[in-house]
Amino acid sequence: MRIVLASGNTGKIREIQALLLPRNIQVLPQSAFAIAEAEETAPTFLENALLKARNASKYSGLPALADDSGLEVDALNGAPGIYSARYAGSQAGTQANNMKLLEALEGFDSDQRRARFRCVLVYLRHPFDPAPLITQGVWEGIIAKTLQGEGGFGYDPLFYLPELGKTAAELSPEEKNRLSHRGKALRQLLEVLPKTVPSNHEGY
Ligand code: IMP
Repeated sequence: MRIVLASGNTGKIREIQALLLPRNIQVLPQSAFAIAEAEETAPTFLENALLKARNASKYSGLPALADDSGLEVDALNGAPGIYSARYAGSQAGTQANNMKLLEALEGFDSDQRRARFRCVLVYLRHPFDPAPLITQGVWEGIIAKTLQGEGGFGYDPLFYLPELGKTAAELSPEEKNRLSHRGKALRQLLEVLPKTVPSNHEGY
């Protein structure tokens, strides 16, 4: 089975491919079809994931999987949330986002630094699929006071897991996929995917 992944984020693509390849699902990044990223204009993870999946399916002619995810920090009333990728500005990279987060939490001690990653996954059989498959996963942690670890991507070096004494960037890729918001949402999706009635939509 071939599906297109509606993401240009290499960290996400790596994690999702690692979980789906053993299940005989070939995940092609949308860059393989030169598909431009859909604009994330909606106010929820779910709606943004739908926008991305629909765009990727439309321009590839394949079923599409989209992940919309982000970091919610309690002391910041859930920010950066859906704006996680562009927290420090639309052109900002990972380093600027992490620095902005550290500054926003300056002076907050550990029990005020609770946060979670959230992932919403959407699977569409075709761009007009009236019954998308939707799953979610969350991963609880606290925001560290310094960056630790080289693995993962995004906010991983700041996402501290007290029960492991490590940040997400210090986990192996397998460990991260076992525990993460994305891993949880993907395993749920894999449970419902085989029960999905194939689409008889004309042209797909
Ligand atoms: P999206 O591409 O709009 O879904 O943006 C997701 C953003 O949330 C990423 O660019 C990261 O900043 C952050 N994020 C989501 N999942 C993770 C993760 O597993 N580790 C670190 N950061 C993540």
